[in-house]
Amino acid sequence: MTFREHIKMERRALKELWHHHRTYVIYMCLFFVFQAAYPYIPTYFSAEIINNLYDGAPISTIITNVALAVGLTFLCHGIVRFVQPRLSIAHNNTFKTEDWLYSKKAMEMEYSSIESSDIALLRSRVRQESHFGFNLWQLLKTVRNNVSNITRIVCSLALSISFFISSGVPLFGKLGLVGLLIITIVVDVLCTAKSQKISNRFWDECSTINMMSDKYEELVNNYGYSMDTRLYSMENGILSRIKEIDTTENKKGLKRSFQWMIVNFPKVIVADILKFGAYILLIWCSIKGAMSVGDITKYVVCIVGLIEAVSQVVRNTQISFLNHTYLERYFSYFDIPNNMYQGSLTVEKRMDNEYYVEFRNVSFKYPNTDTYALKNVNVKFKIGEKLAVVGMNGSGKTTFIKLLCRLYDPTEGEILLNGVNIKKYDYDEYMQIFSVVFQDFKLFAFTLGQNVACAPTYDAKKVEECLKNAGFEDRYKSLPDGAETYLYKRFDKSGIEISGGEAQKIALARALYKDSPFIILDEPTSALDPVSEYEIYSSFNTITGEKTAIYISHRLASCRFCDNILVFHNGEIIEEGKHDTLVSNENSKYYELWSAQAKYYVEDNIDE
Ligand code: ADP
Repeated sequence: MTFREHIKMERRALKELWHHHRTYVIYMCLFFVFQAAYPYIPTYFSAEIINNLYDGAPISTIITNVALAVGLTFLCHGIVRFVQPRLSIAHNNTFKTEDWLYSKKAMEMEYSSIESSDIALLRSRVRQESHFGFNLWQLLKTVRNNVSNITRIVCSLALSISFFISSGVPLFGKLGLVGLLIITIVVDVLCTAKSQKISNRFWDECSTINMMSDKYEELVNNYGYSMDTRLYSMENGILSRIKEIDTTENKKGLKRSFQWMIVNFPKVIVADILKFGAYILLIWCSIKGAMSVGDITKYVVCIVGLIEAVSQVVRNTQISFLNHTYLERYFSYFDIPNNMYQGSLTVEKRMDNEYYVEFRNVSFKYPNTDTYALKNVNVKFKIGEKLAVVGMNGSGKTTFIKLLCRLYDPTEGEILLNGVNIKKYDYDEYMQIFSVVFQDFKLFAFTLGQNVACAPTYDAKKVEECLKNAGFEDRYKSLPDGAETYLYKRFDKSGIEISGGEAQKIALARALYKDSPFIILDEPTSALDPVSEYEIYSSFNTITGEKTAIYISHRLASCRFCDNILVFHNGEIIEEGKHDTLVSNENSKYYELWSAQAKYYVEDNIDE
């Protein structure tokens, strides 16, 4: 980094600090100014009082000095005590703000970034560095230390200036002190640079280890995994892996502490020599009668304080420069752009719902992969059509839906909505025209109504209607609090557990509640019992109404109701048409899939 870049980085980080943690910064400055200044009050007044007594000053002067010492100490102490609890609350809030910032960033990121392992590693590393006190946290520490040390320097200089200008103190003594101070600073700078290098290497090595450790901890603590870990006796394997990771990290930590100690040793020695030199000089001056008894104690405190504070300011400045590497990484995470948000066109709100979608020569590779998940897909479908997407596992069906919903943008080609590239539309508005139930949908541990509406408040009547259409009516009637019933027990101990099939019905109700012109269902009945499946399919046309319905299904019998069927194979649409046409061609893939399934049902029947 060049010097200009360092300055730019520092300015940006300070702005960020001020923007997000303003209250904390204000209380912190107040607290550390008064905390650093207040020991100087007794130092100054005790020297004055000793001098008063020594010089035989009038009692009124002594009493005034005592009163001032007590009064000012009391005032300073009062301010520190007043600020302390507020500072502590503001300090706790900084952690919450930090968590909130990370959550906000994750929510605003485009889907492909969330999936990217590089970004996951970066996020984990930056969070760990925050956790261990780098990036903005180091900057906070630097600001705090500098506020404190600059206050100490100002107070020490104010109280010891008479020492530096006094003709009683020999010039060689003063120059010697300054020379020793410069040597101390140089040694300090060199040692800090070396020890920071050791630290950086340590954190580089530990970032992957820590991420692995977090992942293993998640396996142990996440209730979703507990059934499999128990049934397959995985506990010992996982626990010993965690131990292994911890041991590796501890060994590295121990090695770093040892290296750190060796590297910093010269710094400690030189600093002690400097303090020793200052004491010798002061003792020599007092023997020679160059200063009063009261002044000696004052100068001892102030000069030692000055030496320490100057060294610490230099060290802090150096550490803050070294911290810029961490800040650069911190900002690189928060600066990850969301390319999905480029479009600004409004999605035309058509009362007639006349939308049509076209895939034109669309090909797609997942980020960081070399193979095409979709190859040269060309398809056009209109509102009101019922479209089925079929094909073997891994043939590209879900990817096709993800592209349509703009979770990813095509690598080549374009997708058009009413003739306009979907990238040009406002992203949030475009999202509004799709109701999707993915195979791996997630329900939240909120109330049933909130799960259906995907919002904190909802229209209870509409929720009930959608649940009924999704086949959840009987179960709904049995719920103690209706739509207000909590799912799972994370937020409410009376929350209910639901089966996979029931969860699928709730997810379907969620899609119906959104009431978008497109309804997309990825294996909508895979977890349903045969009766529920039959009910859903028989009322499918009523459920979807005039909407365009796209659904991925392995149950080819259900495709018979569709206007068009797309057959995917190795990322390409190899066949397209109605059920009767496709099945009549015995060389088609569709026929192969259909016969395989039909055979299975026939054999099943024979067995019976
Ligand atoms: P289908 O829905 O037909 O089972 P998918 O569309 O899920 O198939 O997958 C198509 C291909 O893309 C598969 O080879 C799959 O391994 C790959 N794929 C799916 N998701 C990802 C992903 N997030 N990253 C990389 N490859 C993926």
